[in-house]
Amino acid sequence: MRRNLFSLIDKFFLNIYIYIMASSVKSEDSDVVNIPIENIIHDTPMMNWSKKNAPSILNQVQPKKLPPKKDTVGTLKPKKIDRIQSAYDAGIQHKLPPINVKQYGKTGFYEVIDGRHRSVMALKHGEKSIPAKIMTGGKKRRSYPKRYIPTALSKRDKRKQRKMITKSRRVKRNIKNKVRRKSVRRKSVRRRGVKRRSVRRRGGVKRRHVRRKMKGGAIPPCEGQPKSINDIWNSMHSDNFEICGCAILDPNTNKYQLFQNGQGPGKPPAERRFCQTLRNYGIVWHTHPACCETPSKLYPSVEDLLKVVKHGSHTSLIFCQYGVWTISCAQKIVQQQIINMIQAAIAPIVDHTVNNTHNGQDLTNETLNWLIDNIFAGLKKQGLEIYIPSYKIAFNFWDHYEEVLNLEISDRYRAINPNDHFY
Ligand SMILES: [Zn+2]
Repeated sequence: MRRNLFSLIDKFFLNIYIYIMASSVKSEDSDVVNIPIENIIHDTPMMNWSKKNAPSILNQVQPKKLPPKKDTVGTLKPKKIDRIQSAYDAGIQHKLPPINVKQYGKTGFYEVIDGRHRSVMALKHGEKSIPAKIMTGGKKRRSYPKRYIPTALSKRDKRKQRKMITKSRRVKRNIKNKVRRKSVRRKSVRRRGVKRRSVRRRGGVKRRHVRRKMKGGAIPPCEGQPKSINDIWNSMHSDNFEICGCAILDPNTNKYQLFQNGQGPGKPPAERRFCQTLRNYGIVWHTHPACCETPSKLYPSVEDLLKVVKHGSHTSLIFCQYGVWTISCAQKIVQQQIINMIQAAIAPIVDHTVNNTHNGQDLTNETLNWLIDNIFAGLKKQGLEIYIPSYKIAFNFWDHYEEVLNLEISDRYRAINPNDHFY
């Protein structure tokens, strides 16, 4: 009884699904034709699926594969496959809407525009052919840059914009004349401007900054709310969140003027504290709060150590209870692969330090030496040292803690009077 009910419900939803699919198919004037299954070209996800789920039939049919230039990445969706399978189970596969295909060049083969799941399932079930609508002209539907189309537009406007985009592509493709190409480029720039505005309106503030950071390029001028070293000290000891910003080094006095332009979340509710500056300023700083139930670590995090290696900032100051870390690197690494390798080399060293210092709360000569020595040794061991020859790590502790900490003075750590180094 129960089973029957379930299968009834199943059938009901299946019919709705088929109905929705059928209605979502773009109405085109072309008629439905039956295309031999071996004439449907497979892309990589289809090929992989068929290899796994219908190897013998695949071997028999041996469909053509899309060339790499036109190929698609990703995998087929199991949910869709399941739904189509239930249509086959119920014997109503003929009710599935026809797939949309496009003739591949002037060959007798067809690439799938819509209906990759139906195609592989037809192959799996030994169908000799599959009903399809042959589309002419336009590009693959799914390759429209949908994400650029603002959501606020009505359906009609969206359609218009889509047409505009495809038209511009067609024009681009057809021109051979250089001068004409230039004019089109200018047009497309204007159009791109429209798109970008729409992204902004959707609240893409964060995305915009990320994009700017990735780009690197010129260092933006430092601005924000001026902060004295006293303000920093107070925030560190009372605020349960990091504050951050940029700094200007006064060449006359050799003192940093700090400007705040960021504030991070508290811990908890956030899993960890962090703070991101608005832009990639030359000199950036942030605090590691010494207050509250769970004070931040007295050591730089992996991200803190990597920040100056990637694009943008050349110096990073980290204020913590006992002093200020200065991490600098003039030379940048652009290759993500090498950055990943450096991160992999540094991460276990930072972890070890944190685990052996009561979650980063003890600071001794030994732990400091161990951390810095091992960072450089680790990089050297992996052959990565050559990539960051200008990398420097130093810890400047506040001179009024000199006796408490009892650190040996070296070129890596020195006692400083905060008022001599910061405004
Ligand atoms: Zn930090």
